[in-house]
Amino acid sequence: MRIIPFIVGICVASAASGADFDTHFSDSTLRLDYILGGDASGSHISLQKQSKSPCWAGRRHNMDKLPYTGNGQVTVVSKATGDTLYRNSYSTLYQEWLSTDEAKTTPRAMQHTVMVPLPKEPATICVSLLDNRHNTIAGMSHLYRPDDELVAIGNNSRTLPHKWLHKGGDSRQAIDVAILAEGYTPAEMDSFYVHAQTAVYEILSYEPFKTHADNFNFVAVASPSADSGVSVPRINDWKNTAFSSHFSTFYSDRYLTTGNVFAINDALAGIPFEHIIILANTPEYGGGGIYNSYTLTAARHPMFRPVVVHEFGHSFGGLADEYFYIGDVMEDSYPADVEPWEPNITTLKDFDSKWKHLLKDGTPVPTPATEAGKWGTGVYEGGGYSFKGVFRPADECRMRNNTYPTFCEACTAALNRLIDFYTKKEQP
Ligand SMILES: [Zn+2]
Repeated sequence: MRIIPFIVGICVASAASGADFDTHFSDSTLRLDYILGGDASGSHISLQKQSKSPCWAGRRHNMDKLPYTGNGQVTVVSKATGDTLYRNSYSTLYQEWLSTDEAKTTPRAMQHTVMVPLPKEPATICVSLLDNRHNTIAGMSHLYRPDDELVAIGNNSRTLPHKWLHKGGDSRQAIDVAILAEGYTPAEMDSFYVHAQTAVYEILSYEPFKTHADNFNFVAVASPSADSGVSVPRINDWKNTAFSSHFSTFYSDRYLTTGNVFAINDALAGIPFEHIIILANTPEYGGGGIYNSYTLTAARHPMFRPVVVHEFGHSFGGLADEYFYIGDVMEDSYPADVEPWEPNITTLKDFDSKWKHLLKDGTPVPTPATEAGKWGTGVYEGGGYSFKGVFRPADECRMRNNTYPTFCEACTAALNRLIDFYTKKEQP
């Protein structure tokens, strides 16, 4: 993949400036809509629209720190001082597409939305995409000016009907998760609320979410669709739905996603949210979860309960898949000489930064799977779609197997650290 040079001089500002929320930001959100475009030979990012709306639901501390490296980052830098005021990371469906055969021949464009707190002062906003070696493959920056009359005011007067299914605390402190309806007609919304309640119940039944239930809010938003169900291209069944989601993403039958990121964020106007779960009204098996983007999962399949927790592990927790199958198309996701940023897999390039502190004395590295009963948390070969060279922390985990009832010890520890990052001022 060709690496496009990314001029970051104005964006990599001072080290931790301890940016104070109230000094630099209004209690409002700046929504940034981008178009990601390109192909396997190169990518670019274009600004599509800026809009602002009342209330900032995200964190008000650790402002200049990243939760994880992610597959892309946004950085808000003070124009006056060069201080880093806010950072966040994410992954995108576009980057997954870049590894497909189609990307070798056909340039495409996809939507990408980032929410940042509304700066009180002129600020440079930098967005980037990284490859699986953590190199920048695309980046751009643009100036936000508080007096820019073309920064639109979000249409919060058209807030969709919604219900709080779990309220752990005020949205300014708690982690706000919005659950959207996809493929539910207005007449089917009672069924959507039941499915949404099931998702909330299931997520909060898992540790560490159970212990941290007071740190989470879940709101279900009744986004209506004209048709019932979602599109299944394999059987030539296409529907008119709120977010135009469909199975067979990248020709993989059970991969259910949507590229309509702007419509998702439009549907959330007026609702405080940081993380998104979309429930698809279908009995087909499938789903997907993209870090700090969204979870999309089939709500009427018998495996709905474990799958929604697994996908939330991706979209909220930044956790990697711990499974690996023969002939997996994603086999080359993690180069052997680069430590992945995901907290629950390792290439042993920098294992000290992962779950080494959780190993019992004497645990062999790698740990033979036949000795999983003896050691518990270990370093088991196979994970992140690869049989070789990628290692996972446990033989079984919610991130590997739909029938296993818990997250492994390393996933649990990582989720705990992330919840603390979002909700506690003092980092352990
Ligand atoms: Zn795990």
